[in-house]
Amino acid sequence: MRILILGGTIEASQLARLLADDSRFEATMSLAGRTVSPKQQVLPTRIGGFGGIAGLETWLRDNGIAAVVDATHPYAAQISAHAVAACNGISIPLGSIIRAPWAREDGRDNWIEVETTGAAAHALGDAPARVFLSIGRQELAAFAAAPQHHYIARTIDPPDVTLPPDIRFVYDRGPFDIATEQAFLAREKIDMIVSKNSGGAATYPKIVASRRLQLPVVMISRPHKPHGVALDVPEAAMHWLETQLAHGASSSRRGV
Ligand code: NAP
Repeated sequence: MRILILGGTIEASQLARLLADDSRFEATMSLAGRTVSPKQQVLPTRIGGFGGIAGLETWLRDNGIAAVVDATHPYAAQISAHAVAACNGISIPLGSIIRAPWAREDGRDNWIEVETTGAAAHALGDAPARVFLSIGRQELAAFAAAPQHHYIARTIDPPDVTLPPDIRFVYDRGPFDIATEQAFLAREKIDMIVSKNSGGAATYPKIVASRRLQLPVVMISRPHKPHGVALDVPEAAMHWLETQLAHGASSSRRGV
C-alpha cells in the first residue's frame, strides 16, 4: 500500500522508522524544504511544495497513494488545509497526528497568551527588554515593529526576512535539556521569552526553565489546523494505516 507522510516533525520521523522495514507499506516522506540540511530520512523523500490543493491531488493520483498521514507541525496550518481538501477531493483517507499542546501550570507559569506574532511583539511592552525568540525563523519580521528590545533568536538556519535592529542568532535544533536551557536564559539575562505552544518533549525544557526562573512567556496560540482522522502518536498512525490496509484488502476482495 502506497502512503504519503507530510512531515517536518519528530512524529513524522518516528512514523518513518516504524514504516521503514515494513514490506506491507511503500511510504514516501514529504518535506517543505525549509531547512537547508534536513535530518537524514529513512524513507524515500520528496522535497518542496506540491503547488496548492490541485498540485497535491495530482501528485497523490500520479503516485498511486492509498492513504495520507499528516504529521506536520501544529503551526503548519496551510498544508493541513490542503491535505484535507485534496484527500476529500479524490477520496483518499487522511489521518492526522495531533500533538497535545503544553498546559500552563496555574500559579507557577506566567504566560501571556496572544493570537499572533504581531500581538506577541506588542505584548513585550515599551521598556527595552532582553527577549529570547524561540519561534523559528519565518515569522521574525513581526518583531521589527518593536525595535527597542535586544533579541536573541534560536533557529536552525539563518533567516531571510526583515529583522529588528538588535538581534543575535543562536543556531541549534532540539532536543534541548532543562539545565542547559536554564543556564542559557540566566547567562543571557533574558527577561521574556516568546514561544509557540508546540507541545511535545523536545522543546519543553525552555518552558520548565522559564518556570524555574519565573520568567514571563509570551505564548502564541495555535492556529486552526484542519485535520482528518485524529491520531495522537506515531504508533496510533501505524495502527490506523494497518486498518486502512485491511479495509483496502477486504474492499478489493469484494471487488469494490
Ligand atoms: P504551511 O504554512 O502549512 O505550508 C505552506 C506551504 O508549504 C504549503 O502550502 C505547501 O506548499 C508547503 N508545505 C508545507 N509543509 C509541507 C510538506 N511537509 N511537504 C511539502 N510541502 C509542504 O507550513 P509551514 O508552517 O511553513 O511549515 C513547513 C514545514 O515545516 C512543515 O513540514 C512543518 O511540519 C515544518 N515545521 C513547521 C513549524 C512551524 O512553526 N510552522 C515548526 C517546525 C516544523 P504547496 O501549497 O505548494 O503544496
